Amino acid sequence: MGETELPVVVVGAGPVGLAAAARLVERDLPVLVLEAGPGAGTSVGQWHHVRLFSRWAELVDPAAEKLLARSGWTAPDPEQYPTGHEWAESYLEPLARVLGERVRFGARVVGVARRGRDRVVDAGRESEPLTVHVLGVDGAEQRVAARVLIDASGTWTGPNPLGADGLAAVGEARATDRIVYQVPDLADPAVRARYAGRRIAVAGSGHSALTALVAFAELAAEEPGTHVDWLLRRGQVGDTFGGGEADELPARGALGSRAAQAVAAGHISTVAGFRTASVETVEGGLVLVGDDGRRLDPVAEVIVVTGFRPDLSWLSELRLDLDPVLQAPRALAPLIDPNVHSCGTVYPHGARELAQPEPGVFLVGMKSYGRAPTFLAMTGYEQVRSVVAAIDGDQAAAERVELVLPDTGVCGGAGVFDDPDAAAEGQCCGAPAQPVSLSIGHPQD
Ligand SMILES: Cc1cc2nc3c(=O)[nH]c(=O)nc-3n(C[C@H](O)[C@H](O)[C@H](O)COP(=O)(O)OP(=O)(O)OC[C@H]3O[C@@H](n4cnc5c(N)ncnc54)[C@H](O)[C@@H]3O)c2cc1C
Repeated sequence: MGETELPVVVVGAGPVGLAAAARLVERDLPVLVLEAGPGAGTSVGQWHHVRLFSRWAELVDPAAEKLLARSGWTAPDPEQYPTGHEWAESYLEPLARVLGERVRFGARVVGVARRGRDRVVDAGRESEPLTVHVLGVDGAEQRVAARVLIDASGTWTGPNPLGADGLAAVGEARATDRIVYQVPDLADPAVRARYAGRRIAVAGSGHSALTALVAFAELAAEEPGTHVDWLLRRGQVGDTFGGGEADELPARGALGSRAAQAVAAGHISTVAGFRTASVETVEGGLVLVGDDGRRLDPVAEVIVVTGFRPDLSWLSELRLDLDPVLQAPRALAPLIDPNVHSCGTVYPHGARELAQPEPGVFLVGMKSYGRAPTFLAMTGYEQVRSVVAAIDGDQAAAERVELVLPDTGVCGGAGVFDDPDAAAEGQCCGAPAQPVSLSIGHPQD
């Protein structure tokens, strides 16, 4: 393959990576999707039991839908709300099948560099393609040359720890047999038996935490003795429950309202202003100790849903410009930083905000948000529409905004999956991003 025909390599066959592939196919550009897991939506499949608050209409990428329609795919009812399992089974898996050999499973990307040049070397950099280092499930190492890299690898594999300073609390690593970092599937009898009749701590204040509170309140109503200590780093509950009926995504607003009712029902105690410093293992459970010295009553289990962080380790040889707070592309950060942007409502953006100093490298999807908690799939679909237009040299389409995002109906930190408790008070909303270069790097140009 000549270097002008090198593929655009997309990392991750999640919703956004596959949408990027559909956009590339639409423009007749060569694409190779590398997915570490065994199938499409591997990360989504790990939260299979969680019902999304977005309707199908907001979860199907327009270019992917066109591609699927040609294969005789029957679109799900646009007004229904799928679970993670249904999103993967009824949309992501058929989409990957239509993309065929353009998607390679069991292919973990472990590094990306400019061919023959580490990040320090300037000489000849412009004319070299990217080299993607791939590790197969059988341990085989491979190098794939790429014209452009679209990193859509998400953040699911990087959950934040319980420790309030972003590092594991003292004793946390030794206690992982009693700690899980996602919402448990209480419909599974074995999982249900683990929590039924026990005292549990739930740490976090985003949508995953609210989902967990609702699920545990239902369990507590049926299984006497079940009790939840809800740990919040912020000093008060405030607007943690979101915009309710003012939320333009009704199911997102309703989740907050159901969580508020769950707390009011009495099986949940709110522990505000609690910043976990250590985890002590005692007979039959764990004692959580705050950085102010507070010791909570022993709990049998802990659920940590305090957000995610991006894995930037395999991008270390590329020249990236990331925001020092969020680890998101610098130009995007002001639009999504929960410290300064309290609405949870984020404006659409594209190639301009996502481009990196390393030509031809884009972070998209959940990963592009770094540690910011407000990502929506439809934001990712708009990102890759713009990025692929830029790759194709269609600057007019790359600059155009074709999406209006729904308002959360609240200023102060709602609209998040796993709120890192950084929400600002009273400010609204982010400043426009500064322009950056859209150079893509065509090796033969
Ligand atoms: C519990 C939960 C509920 C959510 N609910 C909603 C909702 O209702 N509405 C909404 O709009 N959004 C929702 N989101 C947010 C977001 O839309 C989803 O997380 C979505 O899956 C993000 O898509 P993505 O493609 O960016 O990343 P992911 O879905 O995480 O996909 C990334 C893919 O990359 C693969 N990968 C990772 N590392 C590598 C590597 N090194 N090499 C190769 N492959 C790799 C992974 O296996 C995975 O398949 C929710 C998120 C969570 C966690």
